[in-house]
Amino acid sequence: MGWALSPMLPNSDCIFCKIVDGKIPSTKLFEDDSAIAILDINPITFGHSLYIAKEHYATLLDVPEGKLPGIIKNLQKVVSALLKATGCEGFNIIQNNQRCAGQLVPHLHFHLIPRRPNDPIHFNWQIGTYQNEESQKLAEEIRKQLAE
Ligand code: 5GP
Ligand code: ZN
Repeated sequence: MGWALSPMLPNSDCIFCKIVDGKIPSTKLFEDDSAIAILDINPITFGHSLYIAKEHYATLLDVPEGKLPGIIKNLQKVVSALLKATGCEGFNIIQNNQRCAGQLVPHLHFHLIPRRPNDPIHFNWQIGTYQNEESQKLAEEIRKQLAE
């Protein structure tokens, strides 16, 4: 089965659709009408969890306008519970879109990653700077796109 990022991907080919449907077992933390939360099977920190849309959308941009608030309406509640249960104060939410951004499962999900002081997670951000008028030109182009 080839890997494809398409909202048309049949749900029967999607591992998270199978988890949502209960066809693949998961350690479920939460469920409402539009999302579930489960423990990630390969946690990068203790408590690393996934908040998964029930409907199959390949990426964030495939969610129809107006539906996102419903999907994430209980995100804060799940994160709060996760932090209390793990005794963590800090957390990262990571949401990968497309393979070049590290997305392996093309079904909308948010990584909920509890953080501890001096834990071994390091984001390898190589910071850069804009040259000359680059940032102004870029901002102008983005504003133009937003106005369309
Ligand atoms: P992505 O790279 O698509 O943002 O993240 C996919 C995540 O799903 C990975 O962190 C991976 O460990 C997790 N994952 C993949 N298959 C399963 C599974 O069958 N069960 C659970 N609980 N997590 C899974
Ligand atoms: Zn799916």
